[in-house]
Amino acid sequence: MGDAPELKPCPFCGQSNTIQTSRLYLECLECGCYGPDAKKGQPRNDEYAPHRAWNTRADTITALEEENKRLREAMERAARYADGIRGAVETNQVADKDVRGVAILIRNNLRAALNGK
Ligand SMILES: [Zn+2]
Repeated sequence: MGDAPELKPCPFCGQSNTIQTSRLYLECLECGCYGPDAKKGQPRNDEYAPHRAWNTRADTITALEEENKRLREAMERAARYADGIRGAVETNQVADKDVRGVAILIRNNLRAALNGK
C-alpha cells in the first residue's frame, strides 16, 4: 500500500508525537489520548485507517473550535450592546426607539452567528 498519510497534530494538546499502538488506533505520547477507533466508517484491510480516523477527528475538533470562537465573539458583542443600552436607560439618556434599535441589533447579531455568519 502507499505511504502513511501525514498526521495532523493532536487535537487535544497540539503536539505531533503520535504512534500507532493498536491495529485500530493511534495514540498521542504527549497527552495520552488515543483513537478514534478505525473500525467506524473506515474500509477493512486499510492499514492506514487509524491514521485517517485520527486526521478526521482532528479536522472535526478544529472546526468545532472555530465555530465555538465565532459564537463566543457574537455573544460578547451582544453583551456589550446590552450593557451600553442598560447604562443609557439608567441615566435616562435614551429614547424608547433607541432601546428597540439595540434589541434588534442584538437579535440580528445572535441570529447571524447561529446561521454561521
Ligand atoms: Zn496530545
